[in-house]
Amino acid sequence: MVAELISVGTELLLGNIVNTNTQFLAEQCALLGLSQYHQEVVGDNHDRLAEVIRTALGRADVVILTGGLGPTEDDLTKEVCAEVMGFPLVEDAHTRKRIEQYFQNSIYKVIPDNNWKQAIVPEGAIILDNDNGTAPGLILEKDGKAAVLLPGPPGELYPLFFQQVRPYLEKKQPSVIRSAMVKVCGMGESQVEDSLLDLIDRQENPTIATYAKTGEVHIRVTAKAASEEEAKRLLKPVVKEIKSRLGDFVYSVKEKETLEEAVVRLLQKYELTVTTAESCTGGLVAGRLVNVPGASEVFREGFITYSNKAKRKYLDVSKATLKKYGAVSEQTAREMATGGVFATDCDACVAVTGIAGPDGGSEEKPVGLVYIATYMKDKVRVEQFQFKGNRAKIREQAVVKALDLLRRSILDNYR
Ligand code: ATP
Repeated sequence: MVAELISVGTELLLGNIVNTNTQFLAEQCALLGLSQYHQEVVGDNHDRLAEVIRTALGRADVVILTGGLGPTEDDLTKEVCAEVMGFPLVEDAHTRKRIEQYFQNSIYKVIPDNNWKQAIVPEGAIILDNDNGTAPGLILEKDGKAAVLLPGPPGELYPLFFQQVRPYLEKKQPSVIRSAMVKVCGMGESQVEDSLLDLIDRQENPTIATYAKTGEVHIRVTAKAASEEEAKRLLKPVVKEIKSRLGDFVYSVKEKETLEEAVVRLLQKYELTVTTAESCTGGLVAGRLVNVPGASEVFREGFITYSNKAKRKYLDVSKATLKKYGAVSEQTAREMATGGVFATDCDACVAVTGIAGPDGGSEEKPVGLVYIATYMKDKVRVEQFQFKGNRAKIREQAVVKALDLLRRSILDNYR
């Protein structure tokens, strides 16, 4: 079954308000297993609204409209929809009574004349009582198609949707869409796609889609089925196959779990403490770890050692190393990670040193060159990266790689 969403209101076209209703309804329709191919925003204009409704009813089974059900002259949704679908308008005694009651219970005892307009409904429409406002929701059915009209204010729309529209749609379309997430770090999007090419090529149900984030790739696997259990049954083998192909590059299969949460989870699992020794990321790695509730169990202190002097003072990086190889070098990263562990008595340290730019680069050491090191079980692992982008982008990528190197070092040393 195909659904189409129409938002009505000139204020949406002008960008005065954000179209959160469409985001909400689109997500809800997807959860119900409805296919969606188009969405529209249209101003409070009779002809354009009529055209949009006609087009939507021509290609979708259910058209959901929000906004324009108010009492004022420019609220046209109900009138235009009834006109397009060929319904006469009649007064509904039940809605009239509810409007009276609504005003009796509110601070405004006098009912403005134009509110009576909201008791006028398309003849034969299903009326959805609105407990939070005066405009009822309406469902108009004709020739196997349905138009669902809902008020614009989210405080009225959401309860109406959950209490009355969702059950109506569930009855019409007894299927669900469920998805699973596989989160990957340390592999580019095209590399991920290459590894999954045959799965992506023959995908039908479930479908597989990849999304690139900074330093990460998220793979969404989506199944459509008659029930929740059936959807889960379809998703399971595909997720398993993706996990087995991408191995340790997969850091999580939990929708909401972030990279730092996955790292903290691993540190907790193996009862490890970690410290950070940061130069160009200036505390961002520590900040990401502290984002995670419960991080204090595994992270107690970290270092921002931006200058050479600080690297020597806090991390005991040798003067000779700094002089011979420079602050941005494999050797310095190595000594920073080692120094971090010895200064704090932690089990592990992740160190970052690099050139974030825009200045400070050279032919030998260009902007974006970053060394990341981990110290764990008396072993140091250093990786060299050449990031692209501006200062913020380079630092952001360095943070992701630092968290990821920490994650992979834990797996390699403790699993
Ligand atoms: P009312 O009965 O209150 O007049 P209505 O159905 O006529 O409601 P509109 O007048 O179109 O709805 O919008 C009323 C308010 O609802 C807007 O000012 C805005 O705050 C909110 N609203 C409308 N459409 C949307 C939308 N698509 N996304 C988020 N909020 C919206």
